[in-house]
Amino acid sequence: MEDTIFDKILAGEIPADTVFENDHVIAFRDISPQAPEHVLVVPRNRMTSIAEAPDHDPAVLGHFLQGIALTAERLGLEEGGYRVVFNTGRDAQQTVAYIHAHILGGRKLQWPPG
Ligand code: 5GP
Repeated sequence: MEDTIFDKILAGEIPADTVFENDHVIAFRDISPQAPEHVLVVPRNRMTSIAEAPDHDPAVLGHFLQGIALTAERLGLEEGGYRVVFNTGRDAQQTVAYIHAHILGGRKLQWPPG
């Protein structure tokens, strides 16, 4: 499978504004932010989207989830709150075929999203 932009960021081939990383995830600012805080969390273990989650070790998925929460904590979003989004597939307009969680926060977010 061809490398995505996030494979290249993980490999250090493309720079990113990293806000958090550990053994399981890397989190960096979205290049086109949709909120005052907009960060993408990517697991080091490759998968295309959350649709592949049933094929993966629950421990890997758990570390990913913890990485999302730890990133939000690092951003200081715990008190005000934040939204986590997984765009999945065509109708959700997923553009990068490497799973990523969007963390959005820093302002009151609208619900329902478009
Ligand atoms: P998707 O639409 O697949 O859920 O989200 C992909 C996100 O990746 C978009 O919000 C887009 O702005 C972001 N993005 C695309 N290319 C780059 C890049 O090279 N660097 C960073 N930091 N974000 C990117």
